[in-house]
Amino acid sequence: MGQGKTWRNQNFDGEEGIDFVRCRICGDHRRVISGRHLSKHNTDRETYMEEYDLTPDELMQRTSESYKVLAAAITRMARNNGLPR
Ligand SMILES: [Zn+2]
Repeated sequence: MGQGKTWRNQNFDGEEGIDFVRCRICGDHRRVISGRHLSKHNTDRETYMEEYDLTPDELMQRTSESYKVLAAAITRMARNNGLPR
């Protein structure tokens, strides 16, 4: 950790996976593990998910707007595929 940069505590309150997600590589607490962040670790979301056995929603805090958009899209997709209710 560190790598010449001062460790900044971002003071995320709440539960991991709900209010924030933790980068498995650097331990940073973030609202979302973005591809841009992962590129700093010379990896991408697909490799990261495979490596740490994660699902896409584990890369995002549940309270974020982008997660709600994603969740809505998944619900819509499931409906279109005619999955049982
Ligand atoms: Zn990281």
